[in-house]
Amino acid sequence: MADRINFSGGESVNGKYTVHKLLGEGTFGKVYKVTDREGHVYALKLLKLWEVLPDLRSQLSARFKMEYETGRINSPFLVHSYDDGEIQGNPYFVMEFCSKGDLKKLCRNTDWNLIGQQVLYGLKALHQRGKVHRDLKPENVLIKDDGTAALTDFGISGDCNKRMTERNILGKPLQMFGTYAYMPPEQINPPRGNATVLPTTDIFSFGVMMYELLTGVLPFGRLEDENDLVLYIKNAREGNWNKSALTMSHAGTLFRPVIEGSLHPDYKQRLQSVDEILRMLPPADMRDISHFEATPIPDTIRGIQLRIMQGEEYGRTYDLTTLSAERAVITVGRADPSVSNTISIREDQSCYVSRRHCTLELDRPSGVWFIRDGQWDHHSGQWRTSLNGTYVGAKEVSPNGYYLQIGDIISIGDTKLRVEAY
Ligand code: ADP
Repeated sequence: MADRINFSGGESVNGKYTVHKLLGEGTFGKVYKVTDREGHVYALKLLKLWEVLPDLRSQLSARFKMEYETGRINSPFLVHSYDDGEIQGNPYFVMEFCSKGDLKKLCRNTDWNLIGQQVLYGLKALHQRGKVHRDLKPENVLIKDDGTAALTDFGISGDCNKRMTERNILGKPLQMFGTYAYMPPEQINPPRGNATVLPTTDIFSFGVMMYELLTGVLPFGRLEDENDLVLYIKNAREGNWNKSALTMSHAGTLFRPVIEGSLHPDYKQRLQSVDEILRMLPPADMRDISHFEATPIPDTIRGIQLRIMQGEEYGRTYDLTTLSAERAVITVGRADPSVSNTISIREDQSCYVSRRHCTLELDRPSGVWFIRDGQWDHHSGQWRTSLNGTYVGAKEVSPNGYYLQIGDIISIGDTKLRVEAY
């Protein structure tokens, strides 16, 4: 049984949350602003199961569960989900409350390079786990209290090789029309035998979205009613869009090559990965300590280790948790008799790892690890950077530090280390 729910404010949800007000209502869900017993504010998304045809309820509940699970991925650039449960037969989950609305509400003098890269890192977190968002648009990127952009609405995001059928699930056709604006041609008219949703789906949507944010209009023309749709789709398929509109602003010029590579009608010739795009943009200091937001590490994790994924001692692990028990900082450098590092990287065949390459530090209150390029040189009383730089993923780390997440790949010289939980 799924009963109709109509909160007006003040109700208690399972004794855990108090409802404040309705934030909005979509096809499948209602989103309420709630607080927990300590007064922390959250957004609660309720699945309107009572409106769903009985034979479709289990399918939709499973999808809702997946949406909750996707929000469990640990990234500052995805709206985090914290808890789930049921209200009178209708599933709900509780997520981070984003007080500043969505991307459409940002003003013209926004740092678009920073916002664009935050969206890209959100996509990267999904893609690394084999997921594709599939519904990227400005309304699905929310702004958190500290100004960070985070992706939400993972309702139809799914495993790359699974296609969900979303038409007619309520017994009536869905309002799919608006979403066509961001959909790549191969998804609107799939070539026969090809039903795979690839990361390039999100990359196309990213291109449309950035064009729209930077110019105020959609790339392939007007899309105000269904009559515009045929021409819009034709323009998308032919790659017919106005490039010169992008040259009118600094951010537009910056993003023009990215947008061109993202809007390619042929997904095989489109930019293939988020990393490829990130490499085309100037660095944005989003994960420097000044922008750092603690992401909790689940209780089940006993410790953190680094594993050599590429390098002369392939497979070797270093237990950061144990090492940090005895020292404040962990130094990393080339194995060499002239230096003593906590972690000595063997690199006999090449010499790209500096003798004093980088430093790892645990922020004990939050349990978060930071990496900084270079080391403190006691001799000269100065911070010394490495020769070739320290990278996390495709991003160069500054001496100010960058915080590590499980799954990150650290590159120093020819050696790659993966951050792992155990
Ligand atoms: P739809 O995408 O169909 O508009 P949603 O159910 O996703 O509906 O969201 C309804 C409203 O609630 C939207 O205005 C959205 O911006 C807001 N909202 C959704 N999630 C959050 C959140 N985590 N924090 C703050 N507002 C949210």
